[in-house]
Amino acid sequence: MYLTAAGVIMTLSVIYIGMGISATTGASPEYSSEREIAASVFEPAYLKLHRTGELKQRADRLWQLMEKCDLCPRSCGAERIKGRTGFCGASGTRLNVSSFHAHYGEERPLVGRGGSGTIFFAHCNLKCSFCQNYDISHLGRGSTTTVEGLAEMMLRLQGRGCHNINLVTPTHYSAHILKALDIAASKGLRTPLVYNTSGWESVEILRELDGIVDIYLPDFKIFDPEKSGKYMAGAVSYPEITKKAILEMHRQVGVAKPESDGIIYRGLMIRHLVMPNDVSGSLKVMEWIAENLPKDTYINIMAQYRPAYKAYDHPEISRPVRGEEYRSVVERARELGLTNLDVQEFRWMRQ
Ligand code: SF4
Repeated sequence: MYLTAAGVIMTLSVIYIGMGISATTGASPEYSSEREIAASVFEPAYLKLHRTGELKQRADRLWQLMEKCDLCPRSCGAERIKGRTGFCGASGTRLNVSSFHAHYGEERPLVGRGGSGTIFFAHCNLKCSFCQNYDISHLGRGSTTTVEGLAEMMLRLQGRGCHNINLVTPTHYSAHILKALDIAASKGLRTPLVYNTSGWESVEILRELDGIVDIYLPDFKIFDPEKSGKYMAGAVSYPEITKKAILEMHRQVGVAKPESDGIIYRGLMIRHLVMPNDVSGSLKVMEWIAENLPKDTYINIMAQYRPAYKAYDHPEISRPVRGEEYRSVVERARELGLTNLDVQEFRWMRQ
């Protein structure tokens, strides 16, 4: 859910033109051979369930959960099928997308040469007070589209040569996504699916995604429930639920390892944003990962915290993270024997 270090959203409007897309499913010429190689060695998880009809059934089951919405741990019970708006801001069953494009600021094994095919969904169930994308997550900036329109976006990103379909903040639209995926799969989609989430996911919903998602990309943002409640709209359950969710994600897809082309096609990739004054509980996050997951679990330790939105209301998160704060997290992760760290340059950071 965070933009990574180089991850500046190119535009906040929905992009249909100017992407160099040659055709709905046609690869852009410069990447065609790479796409062909990837396609020859990898089949995304969802294709099997699409062929058996299970993907459609799961989409229907998730859709029914919007009667009294229970798609996320907020469990606010909004009657979305009747058009009511949930805590997340999603209005009824209307689908709101902020932008979609080839993104070159995500983790390197997701970006490769063709970019990560990000689809940014509007609204969010967590509503962090320090959100860097608050205009999308809190204010719901985006455009209404349909399930068919979402399927078309997936196909266009594949046609552009993107290495994956990267669903950013997907939780409140999981039913729409599965319906769109089923349509796109019938039209030739075979690009891996990235579930790019805050980590605050209910295990029951994740089980419905088993065999559909190829790459889970969860944040583990804050370790202390008091802090998560304070900065995430009362979500004191964030640490406990996120731990369970990450374990379930790992059970489904295992450790993320790049293939010979340097691209990750399957696995768990955790993001942790180091916050000032140890609000994120970073050392504890690293210790929990070391104790509960394989030592080669992919962890992106992110340094780019900047105060945004309502962060200035809280002195302890109203400044960037310092170099010494970031370095101590990296050092602890290494001491713990964690070997697959995506670490950012921090010599330029203020000490
Ligand atoms: S996804 Fe939105 S509407 Fe559904 S339970 Fe969560 S906050 Fe409520």
